[in-house]
Order: sequence, then C-alpha cells, then structure tokens
Amino acid sequence: MRKKLIVGNWKMNLNLEEARRLILDIRLTLAEIKDVEVAVCPSFLHLAMVGFQLPTNIKLGAQNCFWERFGQYTGEISPVQLKNLRCDYVILGHSERRQYLKENDVMIAQKLEAVLASGMTPILCVGETKEEREKKLTAAKLDEQVQVPLEDLTREQIRKIVIAYEPVWAIGKGLAARPQDAQQVAKFIRKILDKKYDEKTAEMVRILYGGSVDSKNIIEFVSQPSIDGALVGRASLKAEEFVDIVKNVTEVKNASRI
Ligand code: PGA
Repeated sequence: MRKKLIVGNWKMNLNLEEARRLILDIRLTLAEIKDVEVAVCPSFLHLAMVGFQLPTNIKLGAQNCFWERFGQYTGEISPVQLKNLRCDYVILGHSERRQYLKENDVMIAQKLEAVLASGMTPILCVGETKEEREKKLTAAKLDEQVQVPLEDLTREQIRKIVIAYEPVWAIGKGLAARPQDAQQVAKFIRKILDKKYDEKTAEMVRILYGGSVDSKNIIEFVSQPSIDGALVGRASLKAEEFVDIVKNVTEVKNASRI
C-alpha cells in the first residue's frame, strides 16, 4: 500500500525569519501526524535552518540539484551536500525550471541518477502545457517526460521515485485540473510504467497531483485511486492552509488502489 505524501514547495519565497515562522507554525500542529508523509521544500538558503526545526515526522526536500557530486560548477548545489543537510526528497524537472532554465529530459535523467545515488528520493515533475493540452498532445508529452529520464534506471531505482503530475496550465493559477482528469493521467502514467517495466513497478511508484491544490480540493484528489498525494505550491506558504491540507488527507480512506 502506497503511503500518502504531501509536499510543500515553497519556491523562491520567504525571507529567513518568515521561513522560520512558517516551519514553527507547521511543526506545532503537525507533530502528531503519522498516517501521511509530509515534506517541505524551502529555498536552498533556508534548508539548514528549516532542517533543524523539523520534527521527525516531517521530511526535508530541495527544489532542485546538480548531477555531479562536487567540482567546478559555479552556483550549483550537489546532491551530496543536500544529503548532508538531511534532505530526503529532491524535486526535479519542475515546469518552472524547464521553462525558465531550459532544463530538458536528458539533464533531468542525470539529476535523477545522482539523487538516487545519494540516497534521496527524487520527485519527478511532468505535465503538459495549455497549448499541448489543446492540441491533444498530453499523452505524447507525458510518454516522453516519463520515459526519457527513467531510461537508464533499474526497476529497483524506479520503484523508489515519486512522480508529480503537474499540468503547467494549472500551476499557480488557482484553477486546478478536474480530479477525474488527473486520475486518468495518473493511470496513464502507471500504464507507461507497466508496459515498459512491470505491473509491480507501476503499482509501487507514488504519483502526486500538483497545480492549485488547496485544503478544499485536496480531498477529491487524494480520493482518486491512482493519486497518492500532492505537490503544493502557494497553499504551502500559509501554515494553517498547509496543515488543513495534511489533516484532510488523513481523513480520506482510499477504497481501491490501482
Ligand atoms: P501551486 O504550485 O500549488 O501554486 O499551483 C504547484 C507547484 O508548482 O508545484
């Protein structure tokens, strides 16, 4: 059975004091949560501080990393450094990085391997743009975004990763996808994994939904059999809202899991 996972992506927000206050507020109310896995991904600059404030049931994640361990790569952050700060998760291939930093699937493949080799869990973000959706290219896009980065990984490695389906048109807009549509896509991703690897792999990988998730719509998303949680942006910056999202997930019991 796949454990539900809620990840807060703080993106390029908050100063040091605001980040400290946010994690203290979250900690205060989520310290008891056990049924749902929770992770927060602050800016690189705040990782160490946030890490020291975390109770054991809340994990630390980074929003990106480089593919080499050490060396002459000015401005980059190594997976080994992230592991050293006790990061458990690393978000990879977020659409904002694909858009503004021109990250592609080949670069993301290298990062995936590096993160796994460092003993952390990558959260691979995939999702179509509005234009691709209108042209009915969603399936083709996802096929590529799932298959290319996983190409050189073993089944055992793939079973450890998390995939976040984040339709680009739904991110930061306050306009989430319909949960039933997200379910269809999550199911499609499992089909890709089944075809390329095997049924067990397809069943083991956790698939999150991301894009304008809030404390109200989260219930319907995690009630879908193929969706195992959410990657939350804006709503993770408000302690009360983020805590409500997690609490609402603990109340949803999935009947079937496909
Ligand atoms: P959002 O961001 O919740 O603000 O839409 C989600 C994400 O980019 O991961």
